[in-house]
Amino acid sequence: EARYAHQPEFVQAVKEVALTIAPLYDAHPEFQKMKIFERLVEPDRIICFRVNWENDKGEVQVNRGWRVQFSNALGPYKGGVRFHPTVNQSVLKFLGFEQIFKNALTGLPMGGGKGGADFDPKGKTDSEIRRFCYAFMRELHHYVNKDIDVPAGDIGVGGREVSYMFAMYKNLTREYGGVLTGKGVGFGGSLMRTEATGYGAVYFLENMLAAQNESIEGKKVLVSGAGNVSLHAAEKACMLGATVLTVSDSQGTLYDANGLNQEKIDWLKAQKAQSKPLCDYVDVYGGEWFAQQKPWHIKGDIAIPSATQNEVNEDDAKHMVENGIRYIVEGANMPLTAEAVDHIRLHRVHYAPGKAANAGGVAVSGLEMSQNSVRQYKTFEEIDERLKRIMKNIHDGAAEASANYGQTDNGYIDYMAGANIVGFKRVADALCAYGILN
Ligand code: NDP
Repeated sequence: EARYAHQPEFVQAVKEVALTIAPLYDAHPEFQKMKIFERLVEPDRIICFRVNWENDKGEVQVNRGWRVQFSNALGPYKGGVRFHPTVNQSVLKFLGFEQIFKNALTGLPMGGGKGGADFDPKGKTDSEIRRFCYAFMRELHHYVNKDIDVPAGDIGVGGREVSYMFAMYKNLTREYGGVLTGKGVGFGGSLMRTEATGYGAVYFLENMLAAQNESIEGKKVLVSGAGNVSLHAAEKACMLGATVLTVSDSQGTLYDANGLNQEKIDWLKAQKAQSKPLCDYVDVYGGEWFAQQKPWHIKGDIAIPSATQNEVNEDDAKHMVENGIRYIVEGANMPLTAEAVDHIRLHRVHYAPGKAANAGGVAVSGLEMSQNSVRQYKTFEEIDERLKRIMKNIHDGAAEASANYGQTDNGYIDYMAGANIVGFKRVADALCAYGILN
């Protein structure tokens, strides 16, 4: 911990895993002997590079880019690329570390990694975004390949950015393959990849509710964020009969007491795609805009935080408990601070950590990789069915591990411990089999 005190997000993610896998570790002396945990907290390597590009005025800009190749014990390094001014090594190491176990949970052959740049896409023109993506891949292409490391999107990186990066990779290597996932459907992308993280989180939620003999129909849902994960989580929750009351962004929270519907969600998607303000919604559909506020002061049954890390602090968690929230499903990665997690668990709020609940995105990325390899494509229905099955398997595996390692009482399932145990064990077993080479 002292060695990485300057990387608080990374330490936070590692501590959570360390505390929850203790019973598994005690039961497996071979993990201790092989120093599996000590090995897994050090990435295989971190690649760090400068990105030079020109803005529309012809001025030279300089940014920093990274790729953290954390573990390829179970398959090629796999994880998104984030473009946001807050990106640094601590953030990418926490994301890459979590990604190892998330990818293991999907049951698909993928290792863990993450990348990004401290580039701020806000206010940039399309040609500036294109030039930055090209410049970023001009450096990154040396280190990635469909069998080595397969990046994808994350905050600030969607279909448009993936396409620009793919074009540069193809141009430099003359290779048309599955080096990136989240590509356009017409040129190698998988159907449903765009929807998969948000839809998958709601499928996970349905399994949690079923385990408590409840259903999503009629439940009041608070969603934070208004990006890829948030809007698709909101969309699926609406489709299944929930009332989605909020979405938010870095400027504030939108509250619609009548609930969102498909038309409103389509409007929100179009608005965000043009980088226009969320608050314009009120003029079109009514509702309220709470500037610079998060959604957590509103009453509801279920919260799906889907914006960014540590967006829910202890005070927010207290508001959630007071306001009747009984289920929290993390669409984002590590959106709750450690203190917030402690508070909601103390109050027995059913809680699905991101590495289990938002694994649907990378799962469909895994399916995209296999479709690229065999050069054959599946239908939307086939992928949706597979996604549902994967989310159910992750849910059931975590619930079973929670029971086996004594983390369950009175029907409360410790998904955090269960998911960490299942993910960690899969990776640890592989590392033990390899000896000390990985
Ligand atoms: P997007 O860029 O599409 O959307 C991010 C949303 O969160 C935007 O509404 C943005 O607001 C808001 N946001 C981002 N940073 C902040 C901040 N510091 N404070 C307040 N609001 C913020 O990203 P995604 O939807 O792809 O990702 C959201 C989360 O989900 C991340 O934690 C990501 O790691 C995780 N995730 C994403 C997956 C995917 O498939 N895309 C897969 C698994 C996890 P604004 O528009 O104002 O910036």
